[in-house]
Amino acid sequence: MEGLLDPVLQDPRLILGQQLCGLFMFVFWLALVFWTWRDATKRGAMAWFWSLVVLIFNIAGWAIYMVVRPPEYVDDVRERQLEIKSREAALSRDSGRCPSCFRPVEPDYVVCPNCMRTLRKECVECGRALDMKWTICPYCKTRQGTPQAEGTGIAGRATASRGQASSRSASSKKGGASAKAAEGEGTV
Ligand SMILES: [Zn+2]
Ligand SMILES: [Zn+2]
Repeated sequence: MEGLLDPVLQDPRLILGQQLCGLFMFVFWLALVFWTWRDATKRGAMAWFWSLVVLIFNIAGWAIYMVVRPPEYVDDVRERQLEIKSREAALSRDSGRCPSCFRPVEPDYVVCPNCMRTLRKECVECGRALDMKWTICPYCKTRQGTPQAEGTGIAGRATASRGQASSRSASSKKGGASAKAAEGEGTV
């Protein structure tokens, strides 16, 4: 039997094939070690230890690593913790507690109804409650000026806007009337 198989086993093509397979397995094994090292580093596992395990036990070691590796990347965990922290900060900021008496207050309160502490300032234009630090109103884009300018600003702008509003309503009434007239013409 051996004598019969000898020419097949000594075929240079078979030997070359075997060598190529061996080379592939060697490169694959090194790549597996490298991959394990990188993956373990990202996940905060002991990179050197797991690289050694894969180096010694090859695919069996890699399989063990795949089973016991930490489920998440360290960066993801850190990012999520940061997100949770920032959300908590936002919640505590928006949860609405007066900073001096700690009674609950609504986010649009200008003063605390309990201790009279000024919580927010009013927009000089639209009157909405703004953060004390804001220099521009995020609702109506009005720059927030000095208190003196505020008073005149409110009065002047209020009358102006009232005038606009009345003229607008008048024109809309007119528009409505003409529209009705048009409708009437249409039906007749
Ligand atoms: Zn208060
Ligand atoms: Zn405003």
